[in-house]
Amino acid sequence: MSEGAFRIMTLKESCPTKTTLMAAWQSAAETYSKVVGELSRRIGTIPKAEYEKLRRSAENARHRSMEAQAELQSHIEEHGCDGNGEVAA
Ligand SMILES: [Zn+2]
Repeated sequence: MSEGAFRIMTLKESCPTKTTLMAAWQSAAETYSKVVGELSRRIGTIPKAEYEKLRRSAENARHRSMEAQAELQSHIEEHGCDGNGEVAA
């Protein structure tokens, strides 16, 4: 009997909230790594004020990414819609 497995598949297919939250997290994480990359590329070549601005936006991006991840995790815990390997790093 594979009804149980089928139901789990259906459940994970049918959680748009999780998909949305995961996409938000991934895009926030991407933004963060982009800003960090820029920061390390430009360190020493830009004025301190400019660097500070970049550093602050990296910090913001990190916060957003952490918030998005926490939101995703608490949704998964509440909703119980975990159980697949879709979480890409
Ligand atoms: Zn869910």
